[in-house]
Amino acid sequence: MLKKVVIVGGGTAGWMTAAYLRAAFGERISVTVVESQRIKTIGVGEATFSTVRHFFSYLGLPENVWMPRCNATYKLGIRFENWRQKGHYFYHPFERLRKVDGFPITDWWLDRGTGDRFDRDVFLMAAICDAERSPRHLDGTLFEQEFKERGEGEAERSTLAEQDTQFPYAYQFDAGLLAGFLTEYATERGARHIVDDVVEVRQDERGFISAVRTREHGDVEGDLFVDCTGFRGLLINQTMDVPFQSFQDMLPNDSAVALRVPVDMEQRGLRPCTTATAQDAGWIWTIPLFGRIGTGYVYASDYTTPEEAERTLREFAGPGAEDLEANHIRMRVGRSRSSWVKNCVAIGLSSGFVEPLESTGIFFIQQGIEELVKHFPDETWDPGVQASYNRTVANAIDGVREFLVLHYRCAARADNDYWRDAKQRALPDGLAERLEVWKSRTPTAENIYPHYHGFEAYSYHAMLLGLGGIRLRPPAALRLMDGADAEREFQMLRDQSKELVSRLPSQYEYLAQMH
Ligand code: FAD
Repeated sequence: MLKKVVIVGGGTAGWMTAAYLRAAFGERISVTVVESQRIKTIGVGEATFSTVRHFFSYLGLPENVWMPRCNATYKLGIRFENWRQKGHYFYHPFERLRKVDGFPITDWWLDRGTGDRFDRDVFLMAAICDAERSPRHLDGTLFEQEFKERGEGEAERSTLAEQDTQFPYAYQFDAGLLAGFLTEYATERGARHIVDDVVEVRQDERGFISAVRTREHGDVEGDLFVDCTGFRGLLINQTMDVPFQSFQDMLPNDSAVALRVPVDMEQRGLRPCTTATAQDAGWIWTIPLFGRIGTGYVYASDYTTPEEAERTLREFAGPGAEDLEANHIRMRVGRSRSSWVKNCVAIGLSSGFVEPLESTGIFFIQQGIEELVKHFPDETWDPGVQASYNRTVANAIDGVREFLVLHYRCAARADNDYWRDAKQRALPDGLAERLEVWKSRTPTAENIYPHYHGFEAYSYHAMLLGLGGIRLRPPAALRLMDGADAEREFQMLRDQSKELVSRLPSQYEYLAQMH
């Protein structure tokens, strides 16, 4: 069996991988992390996707242990502001839709033909986000009976088999604090930590990596090398020569500028979601953490300059943001053609990245790690295992790319060149046809992107009806059916929202008692 795993890179990807491999295999393999002190981590990446709870659960970490250490907050979904027109907002929550008489409630909502707040009418989370509530009661139980079973088993370990299951919420956390927390977790469980620069990568006659040469610690040998060096792709691209496939033609945002804004949460409140506010050349994220806000402008450099983007972001962040240090980032959007070649596996930004509009960077990392464990190689280096891994990882990234392209294509906003051009860009294969289908048959598990990429049909409903750029029609059958059950369901949703808002504590109140 392969015994020695060497991870190059100590950002979120490197330490999530090290911690997970220790949890999965214990002492049966050795894990070494080499991280440079000179080359900084990307310093962003603080909002997550709802399957992330499996990660903490797999590590056996209850919320009250890790959340306060990482200034973490709950995220029930994403609030999209100004994507339809200025002043409009809607939520894309982590909440599956109900069905009535065999049809998704969306179809009944379309059939009624009233109102423009789909999210308000069908998701409980919209009201909970507006009212800044915690998804948990003060005794720690989850807000809805149907989720209770999972919520209470927080400290129990998820199994690898169930890791695709979604939860009704995710987390937001300080990326630097999380990397520090996971460093402690992994090193306490035996991972070796070398702080040094990799200056050369050594390969054997087959082209396999045999060692990485460091400036001060000599050669670090291994059987399997995990490239977590970020956009550099030091091992996968620079050493193994794997080409990088850009998505720039479909997703033109290639830059970002970020700020860390300290705030008094008690006074300001703590909305349990990430906000994506559309701008003239991209969008601004707002990620409320416990004690500060992470905010950043993701933009296309063809449409604005770094100086203009920084000015816009500082104005958006408001008083107090004038003197904060800005972190300018050039983004490499796309994916390495293969994430695994020979004995080198890329995880994190070196593998692939799409703009963080749906917070999928850490989702890709988690998926890469889980799949690595499922596909863990032995000394035969079975090419079928590698091919299967590469297909699974590529499908997830390509699926998310399609979902993001849809955001721009279907946003009603078209008030300048940036937003008008978004309607003309190339589409991924199959999306044009799917968009036509969805106009008369709302998205289902069968007619969305055919491979696992995290997003289920309900996400497509939330986005298509929130963005407002295309019209969906209800099935004709509903006009021939008695809609009384649907009316009862809509009434129940209204009643439950109101009740939850009145019973749940504010997110600030809940998290403050954890600290
Ligand atoms: P990095 O953080 O870049 O770490 C690279 C590591 O490699 C560092 O430790 C560095 O020291 C090391 N290294 C490099 N070269 C060498 C060398 N020669 N020798 C030794 N060590 C070396 N994801 C989300 O899920 N949610 C978000 O909200 C989100 N927002 C984002 C916003 C932006 C603008 C960007 C660009 C990304 C965002 N992401 C988000 C993605 C997320 O930030 C990354 O997926 C995550 O931080 C992982 O990064 P990484 O560990 O792959 O790379």
